[in-house]
Amino acid sequence: MTKKALCAIITVIPLLLCFGCAKSGCVYYSKTFFSMDTVMEITVYNEREERANELFSLCYDEILRQENLFSVSVAASDISKLNASGGESAEVAPETVSLIEKAVSVSELTGGAFDITVYPAVKLWGFYGGEHNVPNRGEIADALTFIGYKNIEFTGGVRLRKGMGIDLGGIAKGYLGDSLKSLLEKNGVKSAVISLGGNITLVGDKPDKKSWSVAVRSPFSQDEYICRLSVSGGYCVVTSGAYERYFEKDGKTYHHIIDPKTGYPAQSDLASVTVIGEDGCLCDALSTALFVMGKEKALAFLLGREDLSYVLVLEGGEVIMSDDVKE
Ligand code: ADP
Ligand code: MG
Repeated sequence: MTKKALCAIITVIPLLLCFGCAKSGCVYYSKTFFSMDTVMEITVYNEREERANELFSLCYDEILRQENLFSVSVAASDISKLNASGGESAEVAPETVSLIEKAVSVSELTGGAFDITVYPAVKLWGFYGGEHNVPNRGEIADALTFIGYKNIEFTGGVRLRKGMGIDLGGIAKGYLGDSLKSLLEKNGVKSAVISLGGNITLVGDKPDKKSWSVAVRSPFSQDEYICRLSVSGGYCVVTSGAYERYFEKDGKTYHHIIDPKTGYPAQSDLASVTVIGEDGCLCDALSTALFVMGKEKALAFLLGREDLSYVLVLEGGEVIMSDDVKE
């Protein structure tokens, strides 16, 4: 499994490419996992092989632990328990309560563009495996009556109204990236890349230089990238786009980012949104929210946030990005 990092591209994931160690000859080990419906890859630099394997095993345990807490497709998870609680207060782990609170705080920040109670709509559209489906207006109207983060009640546990459900798909990978970063740092790792689908978290400095170089994939073509970003260690780069998960029916495309106000896939003038910051959990939720908000609202939001950098790719191909991450 050992590889000499002589090639430029070290990590290729569906959305982002990460470049590192070019010609420096540093040693790295990578391990790929599949969890939360996502291909995940962790790369550690300048570790012994045995140590790298220990680290991968620790990471995998953490991935499984979180999947078993947060996944809607694990029957015994806290979230499944909550979604089946029929209007009663459900006892869930304090960590689950915290993540739901964090999700609600992003809902408040984004005027409800991010809303984990979209679950009934996501389910109608068939995005939890099984058959994709175009629901009729009546079904959407029914689902909408159950969508609204303000109806999540914190009782020590969590209470949802009967018929409501939550889905942490828009924030859980961000949380996992932050957790894996802390875990690797605690274990003395000086340099690593955590790639969870459209989320990349950079741990420490790149072995041969201070900042990392991350390429944002074009939302219009799998094989091209839109730009390269210069990103410091400890930061996370998260992208959301309509082309990540979608299906086609009668010549129309339906994607998986739902506008909580309509119950339909968000009609956005953005093709993809990339958010860069230190809080991966926030960046993940915001990339989804800003996509729903569209260009004008997203820019207005971002202009007030010194802690975040961004790349917005418009449907027409125009790219608007913050100067500080330009390579
Ligand atoms: P991905 O998980 O594919 O990287 P996102 O981070 O943008 O993409 O999250 C999209 C997922 O979040 C959807 O698959 C769904 O589970 C959930 N979701 C969809 N729309 C919203 C929304 N408006 N607010 C919160 N979560 C959403
Ligand atoms: Mg997200």
